[in-house]
Amino acid sequence: MTTRPTDVRRAQLTEGLGAVRARIAEACRSAGRDPAEVGLTVVTKYFPASDVALLAELGVRDVGENKHQEAADKRPAVAQLRGADDLRWHFIGGLQSNKAAAVARWADVVESVDRTKLVSRLATGAAERDAPLDVLVQVSLDAPGAQGRAGADPDDVPALTAAIAGAESLRLRGVMGVAPLGEDPAEAFARLAEVAEAVRRDHPGATWVSAGMSGDLEQAVAAGATHVRVGSAVLGPRPVIK
Ligand SMILES: *Cc1c(COP(=O)(O)O)cnc(C)c1O
Repeated sequence: MTTRPTDVRRAQLTEGLGAVRARIAEACRSAGRDPAEVGLTVVTKYFPASDVALLAELGVRDVGENKHQEAADKRPAVAQLRGADDLRWHFIGGLQSNKAAAVARWADVVESVDRTKLVSRLATGAAERDAPLDVLVQVSLDAPGAQGRAGADPDDVPALTAAIAGAESLRLRGVMGVAPLGEDPAEAFARLAEVAEAVRRDHPGATWVSAGMSGDLEQAVAAGATHVRVGSAVLGPRPVIK
């Protein structure tokens, strides 16, 4: 009997998923939290549609992508492989203003809204949907003044959340953050938790906190993350895109 490549890959993904689910469960146990409170979004950027289809077969419900064109192509390819598209697709990448409306047409959740200019463009794209588009505000967790990654300055978050809440085709679900390199992720996630709490005071339905990746999901769960975004710990090292 020969072993088919799909079987090898399925076994790898089963092992990766099992290991990550065990880490989430252990982090929840340490934090005194119910594992049902922490959702897993598997970050499938750079990986083929066939991997996404296998993950769906293995019970994954949420996947994350960071490039508009890659995801816009991958989503129909996955639906074709499975004969259905029952996944929730999260956009987690840097969002260009001129792509925002297009992203709003295929994504189910946009996690990386970091400036007001994006809101009306997302709302325009989302107006064509049957249901509102779920949106998170990406908060910068860099030290003030640091040359950092994407994300809204915490001081700008109230204006941004107000703009999203005022858009009929968008639904504000909460906040997202990426811990800066070279800093204790626990401190960064503690700052995100403070911002999340302030957002909930103004918008009680905005309860999602998306934080934690392969290297720091434990610290994120300890700080109250409701969604972790994990790529390489499930799928292996990302292929190099030339
Ligand atoms: C790529 C990416 C992840 C997943 O990173 P891993 O270290 O592979 O788990 C999570 N969040 C964002 C915003 C990403 O771009």
